[in-house]
Amino acid sequence: MSSDSADVVIVGSGPNGLAAAITLAKAGKSVVVLEANDTIGGAARSAELTEPGFIHDIGSSIHPMVQASPFFRSIYDELVRHGLTWIDPPAAAAHPLDGGRAAMAWRDFDRTIDDLGEDGAAYRSYYEPWVKNADALVNLALGPLLRVPSNPIVGARFSATAAIPATTTASRVWKTDEGQGLFAGHAAHAIMPLSAPFTSSFGVLLGSLAHSVGWGFPEGGAQSLVDAMVSLLKSLGGEIRTGHPVSSMNDVPAARATIFSLSPSQVESIVGKRFPAKYRAKLNEWRYGAGAFKIDYALAEPVPWTNPDVAHAGTVHIGGTLSEIREAEAEVGRGNHPVKPFVLLAQHSLFDPSRAPDGKHTAWAYCHVPNGSTVDQTTAIEDQIERFAPGFRDTVIAHHTTSTEMLEAGNMNLIGGDIGGGSYSGTQLFARPMVQPNPFDTADPAIFIGSASTTPGAGVHGMAGAGAAERVLKKVFH
Ligand SMILES: Cc1cc2nc3c(=O)[nH]c(=O)nc-3n(C[C@H](O)[C@H](O)[C@H](O)COP(=O)(O)OP(=O)(O)OC[C@H]3O[C@@H](n4cnc5c(N)ncnc54)[C@H](O)[C@@H]3O)c2cc1C
Repeated sequence: MSSDSADVVIVGSGPNGLAAAITLAKAGKSVVVLEANDTIGGAARSAELTEPGFIHDIGSSIHPMVQASPFFRSIYDELVRHGLTWIDPPAAAAHPLDGGRAAMAWRDFDRTIDDLGEDGAAYRSYYEPWVKNADALVNLALGPLLRVPSNPIVGARFSATAAIPATTTASRVWKTDEGQGLFAGHAAHAIMPLSAPFTSSFGVLLGSLAHSVGWGFPEGGAQSLVDAMVSLLKSLGGEIRTGHPVSSMNDVPAARATIFSLSPSQVESIVGKRFPAKYRAKLNEWRYGAGAFKIDYALAEPVPWTNPDVAHAGTVHIGGTLSEIREAEAEVGRGNHPVKPFVLLAQHSLFDPSRAPDGKHTAWAYCHVPNGSTVDQTTAIEDQIERFAPGFRDTVIAHHTTSTEMLEAGNMNLIGGDIGGGSYSGTQLFARPMVQPNPFDTADPAIFIGSASTTPGAGVHGMAGAGAAERVLKKVFH
């Protein structure tokens, strides 16, 4: 299909934009996706950033939400037919500690408990209810906010535990550096100080996904997931126009509805006066979160972890003890750059040889920094990796850094380098992009938002795009 009109136009070809397009195309609607960049996939693209043959993820890298998401589960078999191959490392996450110690979130729940020694029993009693009710937990975390939970007992338990600050949970539930560190590492994905309310919700969700669906990733990089989605969309008749930045509604072809897979301030600026002034002001009240400083590495050999178990995990949380991680994330919250940042590192090539030339490896790492930061955190990140993998710097063939400015330049949706589509503090954890009955509606009945800035928030799960598309089907095409 190639014409100047469509049933629905979607702006942005990130995972949410593509999820919206696939959902609508499956319902028989004609869809056109408009993408500013020359490449498709938004914050889920891959490229040879360092040297030829080394495939790095530009944005998202580890994808527990793909295996958990009801949207992706509904199309998973089709994506496999369109080229997707999934890789699931034996451990979801590793948490190295000084002295050669490491806490491991193995895929195997019992092995994790055994390894945790004196904290094993506490780990079992905290996580077992979530692991046993993984689907109900996922439906709560990724489903619409205003509804009766599918399992009210799980719902009530989640409300009670999720609200607690992660520092409180970590110090109350676990005694050892291993138990506390493992939980703090999961919770730090909130990109907020760990003393903030609801940071435990990230520890609950990510910790339990480690044992239910795993923290896997597509063979060949995040781009392979996007490529499979694009192939499926095209097979359904959908069209994608790249190199098509939208700066006003004049750039949008005629359609019954438009879905923006963008952040609120972008939507406000594009739609402009078609929205009432009061609604525009509300969109501009949106608060953006911390940014990221990212480094991609081409390596001559695997990262030389002191503790060999760490090489069994796709993701490594580098930050040491609970108190160190608490301090690092609090520093970012205060607008500073921690000397010892909390670093997230992924080591795909250990499990996916297609990511690097024979015998060579990749690493993907980032730390949180204040929104819009211009500080180069290379030394701070590498000092943290060296702490648990002495000799790491000697393995580096080449590296590529991405500042907050570069993140936004490469994807206009990442305002100030915010990788979460907006802060998760205050009401923004639940009410994205604002408190209203349906998260995807706007003040204009033909315009919708379905992005990381709407419920359920960031991550490659496609639920915001699919949710916006369902809303369009109900409200516009009923
Ligand atoms: C560095 C980084 C690391 C991450 N790590 C992970 C991870 O490991 N796991 C995980 O699950 N998630 C991760 N995320 C988050 C995840 O990638 C995002 O939440 C997700 O991509 C959001 O999808 P989206 O479709 O809402 O937006 P995006 O993926 O940001 O896509 C938006 C698209 O809109 C386009 N666009 C913007 N403005 C316009 C315009 N005016 N006109 C036309 N097109 C426009 C952009 O070019 C882009 O293609 C990470 C993100 C980043 C940046």
